[in-house]
Amino acid sequence: MARRSPLSAPPAATPIVDRVDRSTRSTRSPAAIVKQLRVAPGATLDLSKIATDATLGFHKESAEAELAETKLRIDLLQQRLFAEQRRSVLLVLQAMDAAGKDGTIRHILSGLNPAGVQVTGFKAPGGPEAQHDYLWRVHAACPAKGELGVFNRSHYEDVLVVRVKGFVPAKQWKRRYRHIREFERMLTDEGTTVVKCFLHVSKDEQADRLRERLDDPEKRWKFRKGDLDDRALWKDYMAAFEEAIHETSTKDAPWFVVPADRNWVRNLAVAKILLHTLERLDPEIPEPEEGLEGIQIV
Ligand code: AMP
Ligand code: MG
Repeated sequence: MARRSPLSAPPAATPIVDRVDRSTRSTRSPAAIVKQLRVAPGATLDLSKIATDATLGFHKESAEAELAETKLRIDLLQQRLFAEQRRSVLLVLQAMDAAGKDGTIRHILSGLNPAGVQVTGFKAPGGPEAQHDYLWRVHAACPAKGELGVFNRSHYEDVLVVRVKGFVPAKQWKRRYRHIREFERMLTDEGTTVVKCFLHVSKDEQADRLRERLDDPEKRWKFRKGDLDDRALWKDYMAAFEEAIHETSTKDAPWFVVPADRNWVRNLAVAKILLHTLERLDPEIPEPEEGLEGIQIV
C-alpha cells in the first residue's frame, strides 16, 4: 500500500447519517412526538394515568442510531442558532430524583458545540441567591442570544419542593404560577423559546435506580438520604407537578410529559422535542460580507 504523504487528506469517513439503517428506523417524526407529549394549555393532568414505560412507537434496536441522527440535525441547527446570534432556546428539565435529568443532558448534548450550550443545575438556594427573589438566579442563568440553555431543575422547584416541604406559606407559592407564566412570556417576547420537560418515572423504577445507586461505588455519591424523604412524599410531589404543569403549560412555553422508565425512550423523546423546537425556529446563517467572490487566498 502506498504511503500517504502526511499532507494528503485522510480517507473520508462515512457520515453517521449514512450508517443509520433506515429499515429499522421508527417513523415518529419530531412533530408527532411533540403533538403526543405536549400538555395543552389549561389541560388538567392525572399523572397516575399517564404511562411511565411507554415506548412511543420507537424501537430499541434502532434507538441509538435514531438518536445519533437526531443529534446530527440538532447540531446543525444549533450551529446556525449560534451563528445567527439573534435568538435562544431554553430547555427546562424537571423530575423526581433518579428520573434521568443528568443522563438526558449527557446523551443529548454530547457532541454539540460547547461554545453555544449552557447547562445550569439548581440546588437549594444559598448565600446571595437566598437573599433575593426566587427568579433572580434563574433570570441570570437564562441563555444569551445564540445559546441553547438547559436547566437541570429550575424556578419550578419554587412551586414544587418549596410547596411540598412547606418552605413558604401557600399564599406565597400560589402567586408564583402567575409570576412564572409572565416571566416565561417576557423571555419568549424577547427572543427565547422556552420548552419544559417533565421526566415521568414510576415510583417502582425510582426504587430500582436508588438501589443501584447505593450498590454501585461509582454512583453512590449521587445518593442522598434526603432522597428518601422526597420519595416518601411521592403523592404530594405528583400533586404539585400536576398543578404546576396545569398552571404553566402555555402555547408559547409548553410542558411535555416524557415517559422516563426507559432511558432510550426518554432520550429520544427529549431529543425530538428539542429538534422540533429548533426546526420551528429555523435559524438562518448570516449573510456573508459582500464582494467575497473571486477572492484568492495566497
Ligand atoms: P440534585 O438535583 O439531586 O442534586 O438535588 C438538588 C436539590 O436542591 C434537590 O433536593 C432540590 O429539591 C433542591 N432545590 C433546588 N432548587 C430549590 C429551591 N428553589 N428551593 C429549595 N430546594 C431546592
Ligand atoms: Mg438528588
